[in-house]
Amino acid sequence: MTTPAFKRVLLKISGEALAANQGFGVDTARIHEVAAELADVHKLGVQLAIVVGGGNFFRGVADQARDMDRVSADHMGMLATVINALALQDALESLGAYARVMSALRINEVCEDYIRRRAVRHLEKGRVVIFGAGTGNPFFTTDTAASLRAIEINAEILLKATKVNGIYDSDPVTNPNAKRYTRLTFDKVLNDRLNVMDATAIVMCRENNLPLQVFNLFNAGDLMRIVQGEDVGTVVSADP
Ligand code: UDP
Repeated sequence: MTTPAFKRVLLKISGEALAANQGFGVDTARIHEVAAELADVHKLGVQLAIVVGGGNFFRGVADQARDMDRVSADHMGMLATVINALALQDALESLGAYARVMSALRINEVCEDYIRRRAVRHLEKGRVVIFGAGTGNPFFTTDTAASLRAIEINAEILLKATKVNGIYDSDPVTNPNAKRYTRLTFDKVLNDRLNVMDATAIVMCRENNLPLQVFNLFNAGDLMRIVQGEDVGTVVSADP
């Protein structure tokens, strides 16, 4: 078996990645496909931590929240991420990969609280840790939660799963001539306002020297290729 290129990674999955084509809810077939890819990587011996979004149910900034108080809407968004985290935990365990949801908001009847030392211990014991409820604070995103948790648990890299093959100079969905970057600096991402993660998340990566690799979760096997050290998608770091 190949030796993995990383000992500990943090993977950010958006809520939409767990939904079927209509983009809403959790699709059973889809979540089992995603979980199978994660379980393969986990079997390789990589310590795997995951931050999952909630956009397939609710986003505090979306149209569905337009008449709501922002803080209440964000609380709903954070709870949505916990639903996804529980679904992912279940799917992983059905494949034999032990997993623990840790929530930034206290919901003790359904999952553990996020406690950094305990999260690291779970990883060391070979459990997949799924961080729910984002940062636990309104006005943040799960991308920022992903940067924060990755830094806290000393992950070597933040892997951001998207619907396209990396970072492009324009939207590849609408522009067939869009060019994909293989390597970028955090400064270029910020200066050119490249659409990857929100600026807070990128700045956290830059300030803490945490490399970021953006890839397409819908390309089967790409996650495995990344943890085996292959140049997939776009790598963002401090140096070009
Ligand atoms: N959210 C929040 N604080 C956080 C993370 C998330 O308030 O630290 C809320 C916010 O309303 C956000 C929603 O949870 O819109 C879902 O998260 P996100 O939009 O990042 O999910 P994704 O787009 O990755 O599915």
